[in-house]
Amino acid sequence: MDNCIFCKIAAKQIPSKLIHEDEDLLAFHDINPAAPVHFLIVPKKHIATLADCTTDDQALLGKMFLLAPKLAQQLGCGFSMENGQPTGGFKTLFNVGPNGGQEVYHLHMHVLGGPRPWNRS
Ligand code: 5GP
Ligand code: ZN
Repeated sequence: MDNCIFCKIAAKQIPSKLIHEDEDLLAFHDINPAAPVHFLIVPKKHIATLADCTTDDQALLGKMFLLAPKLAQQLGCGFSMENGQPTGGFKTLFNVGPNGGQEVYHLHMHVLGGPRPWNRS
């Protein structure tokens, strides 16, 4: 998609701090982090918003959700139980449309974690 910043990142026309790449997905650090760890999971395929996903995208969405805890763990903000107490953890979110606060119209999952307080959210 022309003039889409995340398509350009996927095509390596714009640099990013890449965390993960496979045939369907990219993950990279957010340029303006709202938490000590803040990265984005982005499909290589251009889909504008979560509201544009169809049943054809079910497996892709599932893959995004399963990647989030794996990468959070790698980046030190995984969730675990320690001595019976929940520890660590992260937040996932999709902003959808102007009222959802979406600024980049290429589907992405935010993953935010690390010790609180955070800058935002
Ligand atoms: P949205 O508000 O659309 O859900 O979030 C877009 C996110 O993309 C924002 O958190 C913003 O900081 C991030 N972002 C925008 N442009 C770039 C960029 O060129 N590189 C990276 N790594 N993140 C970006
Ligand atoms: Zn795009």
